[in-house]
Amino acid sequence: MSEFEVDLFVIGAGSGGVRAARIAAGHGAKAMIAEEFRIGGTCVIRGCVPKKLYVYASRFGDEFAQAAGFGWRLAQKPEFDWPKLVAAKEGEISRLSAIYETNLLKAGVEVVQERAEIEGPHQVRLTRSGRIVTARHILVAVGAAPVMAPGIPGLEHAISSNEIFDLQAFPKKLAVVGGGYIAVEFASIFARLGSKVSIMFRADNILRGFEETMREGLRDALALADVDQLCGVLPKSIEKTEAGLRLRLSDDSEIIVDQVLVATGRQPHTQGLGLEKAGVAVNKAGAILVDQFNASTVPSIFAVGDVTNRVNLTPVAIREGHLLADRLFGGATELVDYDLIPTAVFTTPELGTVGLSEAQARKTHEIVDIYQTSFRPMKAVLSGGNDRVIMKVVVDGQSDRVLGVHILGDDAGEMAQLLAISLRLGAKKADFDATMALHPSAAEELVTLRNRTARYLRDKQE
Ligand code: NDP
Repeated sequence: MSEFEVDLFVIGAGSGGVRAARIAAGHGAKAMIAEEFRIGGTCVIRGCVPKKLYVYASRFGDEFAQAAGFGWRLAQKPEFDWPKLVAAKEGEISRLSAIYETNLLKAGVEVVQERAEIEGPHQVRLTRSGRIVTARHILVAVGAAPVMAPGIPGLEHAISSNEIFDLQAFPKKLAVVGGGYIAVEFASIFARLGSKVSIMFRADNILRGFEETMREGLRDALALADVDQLCGVLPKSIEKTEAGLRLRLSDDSEIIVDQVLVATGRQPHTQGLGLEKAGVAVNKAGAILVDQFNASTVPSIFAVGDVTNRVNLTPVAIREGHLLADRLFGGATELVDYDLIPTAVFTTPELGTVGLSEAQARKTHEIVDIYQTSFRPMKAVLSGGNDRVIMKVVVDGQSDRVLGVHILGDDAGEMAQLLAISLRLGAKKADFDATMALHPSAAEELVTLRNRTARYLRDKQE
């Protein structure tokens, strides 16, 4: 008989933890998983999945408006019903959460619906029952939680992305603090659902770190959607008044809104987890330090996903959890490849990206060629929309290899996913050129970009 009750104890039933537990059990390991909130984690319950449902909801307004150009006459003015969307979302995430649980049980994983904390290198304590479980390996997959920064008077009146999905009343006026993924996605969603949105951030533009041309394009598109963008501005205080929440801003102006969403990043959810009892090292932000095998500084304790604060994306957590289970119980040696991870920002228009931005490429490559285009999408011709599609292909001028592709426009995320395959295979610009176009589509522009827009020689423009 084993000296441990289970081979793998997973703390946190989100994307990474669920995958690791299921795969471990599939390899014959005795696996147990504990979750203090709802099975599915951030992505399913209050992240990617409900967000994408709200993105779909937000796009119908434009569709209704544009339909007239294609001969449709709407019998009555469409009205948006917020409680109906919230309830429909709830139904879907409950369905998904139940599927996650069923899949765990079918795989033979024991599921415990309570908080678990670490007691030692091989011990976990279930906090409600007080039960101690001994485990050969412990996997920490507890994710991250919103950071409510900056610390200002009245911050308790603000909400995070955890709460925004389930607001009782639709906010007619919304202030968003932050300029990252979450801030711009919600600014876009709520503006298109009918809120008057003001987004404020400390930088000179939204989405720091993304390709400059796309940042500029998205800024213009959000302005067209009537989103007020306050650059270099943050709230100084939030006060509850009869008229709503009054924000005093750092530029000495003030606005009154119904809700304030703070989206200034997320931090690993490790507080009170007992990591110090086992000697697991964390960094200043509370992220568990792991090596390439996802092992912490304690050999029996591992961590995957946002709790390690490296690449905070669901598919990365899933791959980390999967390969960890394969290595621990399936005799595998494969490691996660963090190169060329495609990503999308689900604003409208959508931003899809894979590989290096122009700025990154110019730091690492001697010669960088840029192929860029901006055009009015076909649909906008009849609908009368002002939208533009922007595409930028970044190429290594020496080897002709495509280093990065960035797209702003409909289905940019879908395109980025497929482009990631080509880039992984080492596609060259000549391969793009030799690929037959699919007409009429927006994506065909990627294979018909004949003229170089710019060439840079180690940070100098030719
Ligand atoms: P981000 O790190 O993307 O953005 C944080 C924003 O808050 C930035 O604009 C940052 O400004 C600002 N900020 C940080 N600290 C402060 C502060 N003290 N005062 C004022 N502003 C501050 O975090 P998010 O919360 O938007 O998203 C968290 C993670 O979730 C992302 O990194 C991403 O990996 C993931 N995610 C992915 C999505 C997707 O794939 N579509 C969607 C949503 C989230 P500055 O830029 O100046 O530092």
